[in-house]
Amino acid sequence: MTDGIAIDRAFAERLFDELAVHTTDAPGVTRAAFGEGEQFAHEVMKREAAMLGLAQRVDPAGNLYLTYEGRDPALPGWVVGSHLDSVPHGGNFDGAAGVIAGLAAVRALSEAGIHPRRSITVMAIRAEESNWFPLSYLGSRAALGLLPQESLATPRSDTGLSLREHMARLGLDPTRVGSGQVHLDPAGLHGFIELHIEQGPVLEAEQVPIGLVTGISGSFRYRKARVLGEWGHSGAVPRAHRRDAVFALARLITALDACWAALLAEGETATITVGEIGTDPALHGFSKVPGEVAFCLDVRSLSPACLARIHDELMRLVARIEAETGVRFALGERTGSTPARLDAALRAQLAGVAKAREAGFVEMASGAGHDTAVFANAGVRSALVFVRNQNGSHNPDEAMRLEDFVAATDVIAHLLARDDNE
Ligand SMILES: [Zn+2]
Repeated sequence: MTDGIAIDRAFAERLFDELAVHTTDAPGVTRAAFGEGEQFAHEVMKREAAMLGLAQRVDPAGNLYLTYEGRDPALPGWVVGSHLDSVPHGGNFDGAAGVIAGLAAVRALSEAGIHPRRSITVMAIRAEESNWFPLSYLGSRAALGLLPQESLATPRSDTGLSLREHMARLGLDPTRVGSGQVHLDPAGLHGFIELHIEQGPVLEAEQVPIGLVTGISGSFRYRKARVLGEWGHSGAVPRAHRRDAVFALARLITALDACWAALLAEGETATITVGEIGTDPALHGFSKVPGEVAFCLDVRSLSPACLARIHDELMRLVARIEAETGVRFALGERTGSTPARLDAALRAQLAGVAKAREAGFVEMASGAGHDTAVFANAGVRSALVFVRNQNGSHNPDEAMRLEDFVAATDVIAHLLARDDNE
């Protein structure tokens, strides 16, 4: 194992603090995709990279590449990175931790006088959080040439301005984004590694600092679904004459819950969430049979076959409930992402380093989506390293102990330092 590599906790702490102070939007932080907070974070990383003497490149979609050149720069290199945007009023570590980890790892190698054969590029990815633009993995897909050109017309949720307009305002080049234009060639990559806070409670509950991720769930979503029934008087309309949208939706949710339990009993992994339900306050009332209810549906699984089974079941249930209750379901546009299996050999290498460094870890799946999925599905050997996190994620109370961050970054740095990591 390479000696002399020491992750500088104070360096990381300084950057986290600077981001927190300048992107505070109480409660929490807000770093809008292609907005002020995200751009500030990009400028901070550029400044630090300049001090470390790293080569800098920004692609037309605004992804940032900071490269520590290897002894043999012609060899396919490593990319280590994550995203710098946040959800509105989110936490300070979701995304930023993976970029700061890359810089801290490179800095530790540089200070130890270690120049590995392969170049190491720290990547700051744009727009991972789909709150801003309802597109999965916008930045990483743009980098790999996988973003459809029509995505550029998508309005940002808060400003209403298109992705094209937001890119142009930052001096980027949207005309060179989409239609298969590749700005980071997967064939030129030796591997992609993302450090990210775990967004669930598993590591904290198991008292383990690091999670090595086996796979990332894919999803299907209906963000703007509705049940259409008939408004009526709550006392005057007998049960047999009702077309009650809320009761119909309740049937669907109860049946999906039973379907989910049955899949878990079979050993499948899946999550089913109805995160928003609403009757229109302008129309609804205490004494009215609800004639319409809006809802959304988010279904995730590591298995494409399992996603397909749940979708089939959804269609069957919708048809049955429509026939039984007289309501109509308008599910709206279906979106989603493909599940990703991460590279077992790369994970085993990280596990080997973690053991040698006496860093505690477990292997686990990721129910949340991450840019790593895009790289893995593009054929790049990919690894996702979770850091234990307190208080959940996508909220202002998100937390992470810096000693856990340092332990995980130390494992990544030691892997990058090895010249035998074929
Ligand atoms: Zn994230």
